[in-house]
Amino acid sequence: MSNKFINLSDMQFEISKEQTNYISKINDACKNIRNIETDCYLHERFNENIIPEFGKIGMLGCPISKQYGGLGYDFLTYVMALQKIGMEGGSLRTFFSAHISIGQLILQNWASIEQKKSFLPFTTKGESIMAFALSEPLAGSDPSSLTSTIEEKDDYFLLNGIKHWIGNGTFADVFTIYAKEKGNVDSNLNGKISAFIIDKKNFPDFEIVEIKDKIGLLTVKNAQLNFKNYKIPKKNLIGLRGDGLHIAYTALIDGRLSVAAGSIGVMEDCLTESINHSKERVQHNSLLAKKQLIQQHIVQIKVAIESSKWLVYKTALLRQKLHDYIESLKNEYSDWIYKISKENKEYQKLKNEVDLFASMAKLNATNNAFDVSNRSIQIFGSFGYRKTSRVARHFLDSRATTIYEGANEILELKIASLLLGKEYKAY
Ligand SMILES: Cc1cc2nc3c(=O)[nH]c(=O)nc-3n(C[C@H](O)[C@H](O)[C@H](O)COP(=O)(O)OP(=O)(O)OC[C@H]3O[C@@H](n4cnc5c(N)ncnc54)[C@H](O)[C@@H]3O)c2cc1C
Repeated sequence: MSNKFINLSDMQFEISKEQTNYISKINDACKNIRNIETDCYLHERFNENIIPEFGKIGMLGCPISKQYGGLGYDFLTYVMALQKIGMEGGSLRTFFSAHISIGQLILQNWASIEQKKSFLPFTTKGESIMAFALSEPLAGSDPSSLTSTIEEKDDYFLLNGIKHWIGNGTFADVFTIYAKEKGNVDSNLNGKISAFIIDKKNFPDFEIVEIKDKIGLLTVKNAQLNFKNYKIPKKNLIGLRGDGLHIAYTALIDGRLSVAAGSIGVMEDCLTESINHSKERVQHNSLLAKKQLIQQHIVQIKVAIESSKWLVYKTALLRQKLHDYIESLKNEYSDWIYKISKENKEYQKLKNEVDLFASMAKLNATNNAFDVSNRSIQIFGSFGYRKTSRVARHFLDSRATTIYEGANEILELKIASLLLGKEYKAY
């Protein structure tokens, strides 16, 4: 037998008493909003109770630095909170993903200190809600083909274009947005994508149209945003000009981790619901729970949950490593920008590792959650075919999770190119 042991020392998922207490507060908040969330789902309304209920326990800024009003929790705690929230449905979890994972974390990672001070404290208090505006009607899986344009004028940028499917889009106050440079005196910049902050409270002159015909995720609000000669103050550029796509892509790593975490919660809720129902429902003179084919569904659900957890928690630990490394560099460079990160080999190594694991975690957990919710509906029979049942809502919501934050086909291709090398990139 080989005497070489694999070092699993960084794979201990032990959490402190403080963290356990925090998850139990999340659990209480989930219980408090449960009935209203169900009602809102049936009436396709955003649940207004979420912001005060989760705001009072700091969830609106869970992984954000204390300096900006957040709790400063590590990624494992954040992921476990999202897992718990996921039990109440993908809609609820999507609100947090848009506000935090592909919202605040972008500012925390890439914005200047001035920008952080101007926006983050309001978002952690819940006075401003965040959203991520990358996708366009002609650019979904391939954001590099986006057609929104940005033109530099005297003391502002002029934005023209359409963004669609933007989560929290109907009521968010702060958006990050990505557009192509055009008409620039520096011809090297033309066609490159830059990232900006949209401050709707102070600059509200754009059109917001709610997307109303969704088949699931019915309490989260998605919108199309139409920008026509919209002025963005120069100070709202994030990072360096031309680095927008890198900023968006790193944000999506956090987005994927959040979707994967929520998917575990979805599956856990499906398991509880399925066990309860199968122990109550009698057909052919015995409980469904006594039928071997029903037991097989229940076993498959449990296996899916436990196997998904490994990838999600491991990704959270890797993401924490990347975070700690970035923070250590920030002491050296007051404003952390892509220019520095591009030249830093350790950053690239850590980022590629977390990118790979977040892609695998999301691909695996979302496929599993869709399959699990489908199995649960089968266990429930006709009782699961109504939006009033939790398993039906999980089924409808989890359908979206294989499409957004990187469609699962794209993630498969991405994982392949990370394993085989850039020259094998097939997308
Ligand atoms: C509920 C919901 C919420 C969303 N929230 C946001 C948000 O908050 N912010 C935001 O910016 N966007 C958001 N989106 C948009 C989302 O990111 C896109 O829908 C997603 O990137 C896929 O793009 P698309 O829908 O245009 O599909 P397409 O890009 O047209 O792809 C269609 C199908 O083709 C596959 N495909 C595409 N290219 C390839 C290839 N090279 N090889 C193999 N298969 C391929 C895809 O995997 C997919 O299955 C949301 C979408 C939904 C449904």
